[in-house]
Amino acid sequence: MDLVLNFADHYFFTPYVYPSSWPEDEPVRQIIGLLLVTNLGAAILYLLLGSLSYYFIFDHNLMKHPQFLENQVRREIKYTMSSLPWISIPTVALFFAEVRGYSKLYGNDSESPLGKGWLDLIFSSISFLLFTDMCIYWIHRFLHHKVIYKRFHKPHHVWKITTPFASHAFHPVDGFMQSLPYHIYPFLFPLHKVLYLLLYVFVNIWSISIHDGDYRVPSLLEKVINGSAHHTDHHLFFDYNYGQYFTLWDRIGGSYRHPSALEGKGPLDAVRKLIAEGKLAKSTGGHANGGSSSGKALKEE
Ligand SMILES: [Zn+2]
Ligand SMILES: [Zn+2]
Repeated sequence: MDLVLNFADHYFFTPYVYPSSWPEDEPVRQIIGLLLVTNLGAAILYLLLGSLSYYFIFDHNLMKHPQFLENQVRREIKYTMSSLPWISIPTVALFFAEVRGYSKLYGNDSESPLGKGWLDLIFSSISFLLFTDMCIYWIHRFLHHKVIYKRFHKPHHVWKITTPFASHAFHPVDGFMQSLPYHIYPFLFPLHKVLYLLLYVFVNIWSISIHDGDYRVPSLLEKVINGSAHHTDHHLFFDYNYGQYFTLWDRIGGSYRHPSALEGKGPLDAVRKLIAEGKLAKSTGGHANGGSSSGKALKEE
C-alpha cells in the first residue's frame, strides 16, 4: 500500500491538497490518505470490473429466473456501496501497520527469501492462493453457523441468482472477515509489494467472476476450480461449496457438491425450461423481468 500512497501523495495530495509543511510520513496524514485511497480504489474496482462483467459476461436471461429479485442489481450496488466505507476502517488499520513497516512485504531494494526472480513470484502466488483459500473456507463456514449467520452473512444470501454486483455485497463484518486472509498474509509471509497489489486486484476479479453467472469451467479443471457454477449452488443450497478458488477444502470438509449448472439443472436451464413451456417471454430485452422471489423448484432458506 505504500506504493499506492506514495503515488497519490506525489501526484495529488502534496501538490494540490496538503500544505507543504505537512510531512508525507506523518501518521495522521497517512491514515487520511489511506482512507481516501482505499475507499476510492475499492469503489472503482467494484463498479468498473462489475460493470464490465455485467455487460459482457453475465447472461441477462438469468434475470428472468423466478428467484431473481425485483430491482436486484440496484439493491446489490446500493448494499455494497453502503458497506465498503465501513469495511475500509479496519482495513486501513492493517494497511497503516503495513505502511509503517510491520509487514513482511519487500520491494526490489531488499532481499527476497528465495532470491529474486520468477520462481520466487510464482511460489508466493501459489502460497497466497492456497493460504487465503483455506482461511476463507473456514471463515465462510463459521459465518454459516446459526448464531452468526442471520446477523452477518444472510445479507449476502439474499441474492439466490447473483449478478457480478453481488460479489462485494456483504455486511461490513462479513466483508471484512472474508477479506482478512488477504491482509494477514503479508504479515506472516514474505511477499513482493507489486505482486501483492496484483494479487489484490486478482482476488477482486475472482470474487466478481464467481458471481457472474458464466458457469463454464474447462472440463479438466471442473473438479478442482471453484467457479461460478459452484458458487451459484452455494447461494442456492447454502451448505455446499464454501470455497473461493479451489474445491480442495470443500472436499476435505465434506461440503463439496458437483454444480447443478454442470448437470443441466442450473438456473439458466430452469429459465430455458420456463421459456419452452411458454411461461416466460423469449427475448432478453430489458432488465425488468424480476418477478417474485418465490421460486418453487429450488430450495429456499
Ligand atoms: Zn455463504
Ligand atoms: Zn457469493
